[in-house]
Amino acid sequence: MKGLPFLLSVLLSACAAAPRKDREVASLKTETPCQARAKLVLAIHGGVGYVASEAQARALADVLQGGHARLAQGARALDVVQWANEQMEDSGIFNAGKGGTRTNQGTVELDASIMDGRDLDAGAVASLKDVKNPIRLARMVKDRTPHVFMVGPGASAKAREFKLETVTPDYFTASAEKKSESSPGTVGAVALDRCGDLAAGTSTGGLFGKAPGRVGDSPVIGAGTYANNKTAAISATGEGEKFIRANVAGRISNILEYTRENLSFAVRESLNQVEAIKGSGGLISVDRQGEVVIATTQKEPMPSGFVREDGKLVLQDAALK
Ligand code: ASP
Repeated sequence: MKGLPFLLSVLLSACAAAPRKDREVASLKTETPCQARAKLVLAIHGGVGYVASEAQARALADVLQGGHARLAQGARALDVVQWANEQMEDSGIFNAGKGGTRTNQGTVELDASIMDGRDLDAGAVASLKDVKNPIRLARMVKDRTPHVFMVGPGASAKAREFKLETVTPDYFTASAEKKSESSPGTVGAVALDRCGDLAAGTSTGGLFGKAPGRVGDSPVIGAGTYANNKTAAISATGEGEKFIRANVAGRISNILEYTRENLSFAVRESLNQVEAIKGSGGLISVDRQGEVVIATTQKEPMPSGFVREDGKLVLQDAALK
């Protein structure tokens, strides 16, 4: 009988030590449609500090509608968050993917991150110059590498290895939207799926006129993006330096985990922290009960919206004509 506990403990420690790749295969295999009928929520944003154009408002509405259809059919929060970010990256009318803003050298450097609330697994990428969909690469970093955060040429090499689409610089710089000097419009999504799982993702070209190599909060897990099934999913936008220093997304999750406060309180407290260091911005968030909080510092506008199981789109600073 002595042998059994020993054998069990050997087996358990073998599982714990299993290389990440094996765990990945196991976790990818569980990505079957969600059969449960629990609440669903998708919230998205298109940046902060401006009001959406008609085209941007339409794009946000389309993403909410498409995301709702997917979640209603049992799609996983993680997949829908990735999909939503990809749509906005490809639209060319937000500061992400194709529409990414310029550095002070006229180049485009993109950042993105994604996080799974089920196991706190995450992937993040920064300073990409040739990857069409940074959020897709962030997902690949999460699923297919032992790493969380990859940057620059090393990250681009991974994109090629994973056969993701790469592009030449004119894909980003040719966009008509780039003619405008400053380009807000970081994008992000948070979702609660029918299985009760949370996910968050954010994608950006960063701040207009940034120095090459500068990275903001969007790809920093705990600053611009965070998701934990025990607490909430958060995607932020704004002055990245301040959001990193205030540890905004992680702070919200920690407040929920370690106090009895609700999501509104946690969001307000965290944005207060941003204001206390003279920063500005906003965020979208959904907690494990499906509560949605969208908030900004100093009542700044933030084109954003959310949808629940009834399919009714709620948009703000994004009027549909
Ligand atoms: N937070 C982004 C950054 O600092 C920019 C933005 O959200 O507008 O890179």
